[in-house]
Amino acid sequence: MQVDSSEMSGESGISWRNEAGMRRSLFLKMFGGVCLIIVILVALILFVSSRNIRSHYLDTLAQSLEKLGASLRSQVMLYLEQGRVEELDRWAKDLGREIDTRITLIDLEGIVLADSDEEPRTMVNHRYRPEITAAFEGRVGRSLRFSSTVKADMLYIGLPLETEVAAAHVLRLSLYVRNIDILLSDLSRIIWLLGLVMTVAALAAAYLITRSLTRPLNEIGRVSRQVAGGDFSAKLSLVRRDELGEVARSFNFMTERIQTLFDERNRQKEELDSIISSIDEGILALDKEGRILFSNESFQKLVGTEDPIDKYYWEIVRKQRFDDLIKRVQQEKKTLSLEIEFGTRVYLCNAVYLQNRKEVVVTFYDITQIKNIEIMKKDFVDSVSHELNTPLTAIKGFVETLEEEADEAQRGYLDIIKRNTDRLINIVQDLLALSELEEKTLELQREPVDIRRLLENILQIFKQPLQNKNLKLEFVADAGPAKVMGDPFKLEQLFVNLIDNAVKYTEEGKIKVEIRREDGVLVVDVEDSGIGIPEDQQKRIFERFYVIDKSRSKKVGGTGLGLSIVKHIAQSHEADIDVMSKPGKGTTFRITFPPYQQ
Ligand code: ADP
Repeated sequence: MQVDSSEMSGESGISWRNEAGMRRSLFLKMFGGVCLIIVILVALILFVSSRNIRSHYLDTLAQSLEKLGASLRSQVMLYLEQGRVEELDRWAKDLGREIDTRITLIDLEGIVLADSDEEPRTMVNHRYRPEITAAFEGRVGRSLRFSSTVKADMLYIGLPLETEVAAAHVLRLSLYVRNIDILLSDLSRIIWLLGLVMTVAALAAAYLITRSLTRPLNEIGRVSRQVAGGDFSAKLSLVRRDELGEVARSFNFMTERIQTLFDERNRQKEELDSIISSIDEGILALDKEGRILFSNESFQKLVGTEDPIDKYYWEIVRKQRFDDLIKRVQQEKKTLSLEIEFGTRVYLCNAVYLQNRKEVVVTFYDITQIKNIEIMKKDFVDSVSHELNTPLTAIKGFVETLEEEADEAQRGYLDIIKRNTDRLINIVQDLLALSELEEKTLELQREPVDIRRLLENILQIFKQPLQNKNLKLEFVADAGPAKVMGDPFKLEQLFVNLIDNAVKYTEEGKIKVEIRREDGVLVVDVEDSGIGIPEDQQKRIFERFYVIDKSRSKKVGGTGLGLSIVKHIAQSHEADIDVMSKPGKGTTFRITFPPYQQ
């Protein structure tokens, strides 16, 4: 499938580089962190264990010395009770050599009576050695210190000996710490070796675990880049039962879904493209600079260009009216339509402004046929009106001649003929006026027109009809200038029609004509207190031949064409016309002229 990868490049490239950096640091962080923890833990274990082992070993040795002392106690007591001190010394020397333990016996005075390693007579008083003092207090004394006698670190155990015949004595057993340290250093070498092996094994395990975590992440990163590049067939091949396996399954499901959505989107786009290119109406989309974003085949045929994309519309459509239409739509930000000729054909160009995208979409409807029919209709109405005008005027003239010679009964009939002829003449004249207006819309003779003066003159004509119906007239005009650019005859026709209607459809009350300026533009209100127009009919009254009440219209001599003429004139002057009305209360027609420009 085709995916526009340019949509995905750019910013995402930056994030890929970040991801690569992140990957490296993730491995280092994880592995480095675990290494540090392992080293600290092993060092801590080694330190604590070597210290504990030494004190535990010393404890154990002290206990065995105590037990040994307890077992020797009776033998020593025997020698003491029998006063065989010299024999005791010899016994101590023999036994000490045998069991590699120093045996010393001290009396209450602190005098050494026997010692396995030294001559007792040469030895200093031992009364205040810590283990001896403790033993004389009745406890088992223990001490680890440097012996000044044998010049080495020793572990001492002092055991109190109490007999009925002899005074209190202390049996002291001691061991060279040197031996213990040799033993312990062997042990700690083994422990350190074990620690080292443990560390290496833990580091290797940490390396493998970290790699097993970061490897899938690397793969996820690699496949993500493929997907971001538009290759939705890329899959993660991680087969694992853990969370990463779940991530891989979800990722693969996600790419499948995206693939399906893209396929669906492409299919819809193709469908839409083929529909748009096959419709008869030309379609053109422009960006806010006026560059062509899209166009269909019909438009390309219309302008005779095959590839207008990215060109400016004025390079393709060289029509002043089209240029004006697009500029107005962009300025006024609203939908506008205009009829434009392309060669022998006429198109209704409908330009829609897309508010949120600031783009313009133009549709080109071929209305040549409708236009031709309209021209035929108009020509027909024109010729019929022209043809009817002369005979009708003749009929009217002859009826008036006949009236002079007719009797009372005949005069009644002639009156009916005359009224209907008048109606027909009115219709014919209104039709001719409309047809003329349609023809000359673009060729108005514009000049500055003073609307106040124009209305003053018109109201003069209506003085009599107003008096006949006993209606009051109010004319309000503020002091400012009341000029518009326009055709004075057409504008007169417009206001005559509006005031004529106001008089025709008002039985009592007043007619008010007001000129004022609102936001710099000229507004004229023609207000009456007449029968009013129902809301649902207000839009339709500007249609040709549309009358609300046929019999009333006939009675007042209406043709149903007056307001069509009014609307035409207003439009040709770019003026807006609005109607506000309440049945039974009255009607106001409002004309709003465009700003005055000379
Ligand atoms: P008409 O020649 O019949 O007056 P118009 O085109 O001038 O035709 O008006 C169309 C219809 O609009 C009229 O038939 C009438 O019903 C209604 N209308 C026009 N002006 C007024 C008004 N001032 N008050 C009430 N109804 C009006």
